[in-house]
Amino acid sequence: MYDPIVVELVEPGSRPCFIGDRSSCRYCGTTVASDFGKKKNAHAYPVALGNKTLFSLDECKACNSVFSVYEDALTKAIGPFLTLGGVKGRSGVRQTGRSDGRSKIQHSVRDAGRHLHVTSPGTPQDLVGLDQATGLLCLEMPIEGDKFVPRYAYKALLKIALSLLPKGEIGNFRNALTCLASKDAVPHDGLLQVGFSYAYIGNAPPTLGGCLLRRIDDMSPAPHTVFLFMAGSVCFQIWVRSDDFDSLAPDDVRLSTQWTSQLPKPEGGYHPIQYSQPLQFDWFTLQSQLQPFEAFELIFNPDTTEANFRPVARQSEG
Ligand SMILES: [Zn+2]
Repeated sequence: MYDPIVVELVEPGSRPCFIGDRSSCRYCGTTVASDFGKKKNAHAYPVALGNKTLFSLDECKACNSVFSVYEDALTKAIGPFLTLGGVKGRSGVRQTGRSDGRSKIQHSVRDAGRHLHVTSPGTPQDLVGLDQATGLLCLEMPIEGDKFVPRYAYKALLKIALSLLPKGEIGNFRNALTCLASKDAVPHDGLLQVGFSYAYIGNAPPTLGGCLLRRIDDMSPAPHTVFLFMAGSVCFQIWVRSDDFDSLAPDDVRLSTQWTSQLPKPEGGYHPIQYSQPLQFDWFTLQSQLQPFEAFELIFNPDTTEANFRPVARQSEG
């Protein structure tokens, strides 16, 4: 059982919010005033995932520069979700895949509506099928997408989690904080586990949310601190290892919290966003690899005209 110790939401219309102060960098410890950038230099959540209002004052320019490499990896790992979801980063909605590549997803706005253009290798016979039993049409879109470095993407999530830690907790996470300043350093031995789930594919809710959860029972063999990060239609969870309180937890513990967000509707009330059962990834490697989904399937019901996207994980992952 867990209690939330920090919850931080970013929504459309959120006012600028600043975490910490510039007396010292929470990662490398510098206290030199000129090492810090402008107030809005360091974002607590990546800009590429839609954050424009949550900033970290206690992140220096040098650390920010290293962290941008991690954030780039995380963005590439979920690139297809961002393109299909219409998530606006620093320069609009990103394209997935190279412009001259065989496989890509492009977003554009025409007549005030969103258009998606998907280019995939293969013939129509390979890509379209009819399920005789259900009458559902299935359109498969193979997506090569971009390559990413899994360890860097993991460290992006770790950095986001640590940026939210209350100041009084920092002393329990020295190893994790220190490893972030050195790009290739591994945060800890064993797996770098990521629980990944998604709500739906298509227009993503323009909301980001981070939640640090703390184990209630100190004698439990569960991880001491778990971090959940919702970014539009996807949700990550990682175990944020403390220096001293995680000796009882097994190395290969599964991160399987099934999460539902309640997003406020403009007309009042709440709209539930239910995320799937998490897939389990190990993002230890420094070897660049293709993003974790090899295809998206569009399931179309000709009777109701309802259509749903479903991601297909690469066989080597989860
Ligand atoms: Zn620093």
